[in-house]
Amino acid sequence: MDTTVIAHLALLASAFLFVSGIKQLSSPATARSGNARAALAMLVAVVVTVLQNEILSWPIVAASVVAGALAGSFLARTIKMTAMPQLVAVFNGFGGGASAAVAGAEFLRVAGGGATLPAAEGATIVLGTLIGAVTLSGSFIAYGKLQGIVTGNPVVFPLQKTANAILFLGILVAGAALTVGDPTPEMYFALAGAALVLGVLLVIPIGGADMPVVVSLLNSYSGLAAAATGFALGNMILIIAGALVGASGLILTQIMCKAMNRSLANVAFGAFGAEGPKAKLKTGERPVRDVDAEQAAMILAYASSVAVVPGYGLAVAQAQHELKKVCDMLQERGVTVRFGIHPVAGRMPGHMNVLLAEADVSYDQLLDLDEINPEFGSTDVVLVVGANDVVNPAARDPDSVIAGMPILDVDRARSVIVMKRSLSAGFAGIDNDLFYMDNTMMFFGDAKQAMSDLVREVREA
Ligand code: NDP
Repeated sequence: MDTTVIAHLALLASAFLFVSGIKQLSSPATARSGNARAALAMLVAVVVTVLQNEILSWPIVAASVVAGALAGSFLARTIKMTAMPQLVAVFNGFGGGASAAVAGAEFLRVAGGGATLPAAEGATIVLGTLIGAVTLSGSFIAYGKLQGIVTGNPVVFPLQKTANAILFLGILVAGAALTVGDPTPEMYFALAGAALVLGVLLVIPIGGADMPVVVSLLNSYSGLAAAATGFALGNMILIIAGALVGASGLILTQIMCKAMNRSLANVAFGAFGAEGPKAKLKTGERPVRDVDAEQAAMILAYASSVAVVPGYGLAVAQAQHELKKVCDMLQERGVTVRFGIHPVAGRMPGHMNVLLAEADVSYDQLLDLDEINPEFGSTDVVLVVGANDVVNPAARDPDSVIAGMPILDVDRARSVIVMKRSLSAGFAGIDNDLFYMDNTMMFFGDAKQAMSDLVREVREA
C-alpha cells in the first residue's frame, strides 16, 4: 500500500482514539483507559507527522522527546493531589506556548525571506500566536496565584477593562496588518509580546480561589491555539485534537460556573474569590451540638444508611484512606454507604472523584448531586468531611452571596455529622446554618486525625 495512504489511515485511527478517549474521560470508571487512548493517539500523530516531514535534526527531536518525557513523568509522580490545578496550569501554558512558537516558526519560514503571506495562512498564524501567547502568560500567572507566588487577591486598577480592550484592539489591528500588509518579523514579535502582556492583564484581576475556573478556560484556549496552528500548517490531526481540547475545556468551564451559580463574566470581571482574610463570622453566638469520636462512631455504626459528603478539607488533610477504612468497616456491619459528590467540591473539577479513586472507593458508590439529593430524606446519617459551601442551606436564600448555587441537601437527612476543625467559613466566606440545626452534630478536628480516631472507635463499637 502507498505510504501516504498508510499515513492517512494511521491519522484516522489517531482521530478515532482521540474522540473515544475523551468520551471515556467522562466517567471515573473509564477515565484511565481514556487517558491511555488519548496518549496513544498523540504518539501515533507525532510519529506519522515526523515521518511525513523532512527532519532537520534527529538528535534535537530525540533529545526533546526524552527531556519532555522525563520532566512529565517526574512531575506526574511527585505532584501532590492538592497541587494538581497548578500542574494543569503549567501544562496549559506550555501547550499554548508551543502552539505560538510553531505559528511563529511558520511565519518566519514563509514571510521571513520577504515573501507575502497568503491571507488565510496569515490569519491562522496570527490567531495561533495571539491565543497561544495569552494562554502561556495567563497560565503562568494562574500557576503563580495558586502556588502563592503571585498575590491571590484580585489586582485591580482604574480603567483596567478599558486598557485591556485597547490592547486587544491594538493586537487585532496589528494582526490585520500582518495578514494583509507587508509583514516583517518585528511586527510579528511586537504582536506576540503584546499578546503575552494581555494574558497577564486578563488573569491578574481574578481572585486566587477562582483560578481553577480560569485554568479550565485557559485549557480551552490552549486547544484553540493548537487548532489555529493546525490550520496554519495544514495539519489535520492538530486541528482535530485542538478542537477537542477547545470544546471540552469550554464545556468544563461552563459546568463549573453553573455549579457555582456564577456567570463566566462574573468570574472574569467580578474580582471575586480573593484569598485574603474571610469575612468576619459571628461564630460562637449560636449554640452547636458537638460529638467526639466515640459518639460519632456509635451513631454511624448503628445507622442503616450513611451518606458521606467530602469537601476541600478532606483533600487538604489527605484523610481519604482513613475515610475508606471507616466506610469499609461500616459496610462490613451491614450499613449502606454512599458518597455524594458535588461538582465543585474541593478546588478543581473532579477533585473528590480523584481523591476517592486514589483510596480505592468503588465508582458505583459515588453519586452526583442529582442522584443523591432525592435520597437524603431517607438517609439515617450524613457524614460531611471538610465540606462547607456545598452543603450550605443559605444557597436557598435569595439574599445570600451563594443564592442559587446547587447544594447537597444534607440537612434533610435524619442526622448530620460535620467533621471540620472549627465553625470557620469555607471558600465563599459565609456562615453555615447547617452547623446550628437540631439534627446536626459537629465533630471538631483535623480530618485526618479525627478520621483515624473514628477508625479506632468504629472498630471497637
Ligand atoms: P469549602 O471551601 O466551602 O469548605 C472547606 C472546609 O474545610 C472549610 O470550611 C474548613 O473549615 C474545612 N477544612 C479545611 N482544612 C481542614 C482540615 N485539615 N480538616 C478538616 N476540615 C478542614 O469547601 P467545599 O468543598 O464545601 O466547597 C468548595 C468551594 O470551592 C465552593 O465554594 C466552590 O464554589 C469553590 N470552588 C471550587 C472549585 C472546583 O473546581 N471544585 C473551583 C473554584 C472554587 P475549618 O477551617 O473549620 O476546618
